Amino acid sequence: MRMTNATMYARVLASDAGCNGRFFFGVTSTGIYCLPSCHAKKPRPENTRFFPTVEAARAAGLRACKKCHPDDFARGADPVLETIESLVGEVRAAPQNFTDARAIVKRSGFGATRLFELVRLHYHTTPADLLLRARLDTAKQKLLQTRAGLAAIAGEVGFESISVFHDHFKTFNGLTPAAFRSLA
Ligand SMILES: [Zn+2]
Repeated sequence: MRMTNATMYARVLASDAGCNGRFFFGVTSTGIYCLPSCHAKKPRPENTRFFPTVEAARAAGLRACKKCHPDDFARGADPVLETIESLVGEVRAAPQNFTDARAIVKRSGFGATRLFELVRLHYHTTPADLLLRARLDTAKQKLLQTRAGLAAIAGEVGFESISVFHDHFKTFNGLTPAAFRSLA
C-alpha cells in the first residue's frame, strides 16, 4: 500500500527508522535527500519531497545526506544496526549525557520495546546496564588519567551521588574507586 505524503512527512518528523527503505525524502531548501530516520533538522513540509529510490532523488538534483547516508542503505547496509552502533558509541563516549535508560530510548528514535530487543540482540544486555558500564568505564579512565576527586568523577560520568558510584564500582570491579586508583 502506498503511503500518502502526509503520512510520510509524519514518519520523517518521528525519525521512524522502521520506514527506512520504504521511501526517501528530499529537502529542496538544502538540496539533500535522507532516510526517514535522519536526525538532521526537520524540513518544513513545503520544502519536502518524497522519492521511492535514491536514484529518483538524485534525478531530481539532490545530494545524499552525509549524516544518514541514504546511499549506504540503498546498497544494502543495515541502518538499524548502524543506528544502534552509533547510539551505543554515543553512550560509551559520553554517558553523562544520558540521565537514564529512558534518555537512551528517546535518543534512539525507536520505541522502548524495540530498543530493548535490539540492544539484547546485538549487545546481550539492557540499555540501563550498557549505560552503567559506560559510566564505570569512563570513571576508570578518569581515575587513572586525571587527579580529579572521586565526587567530581562520579558527577562527571553521570552518577547521582558518590555513594552510588562507590557501590556500583565495587560490585563490578571488586574494589573501591580509591583502591583502584591506588593500584595505578
Ligand atoms: Zn539525513
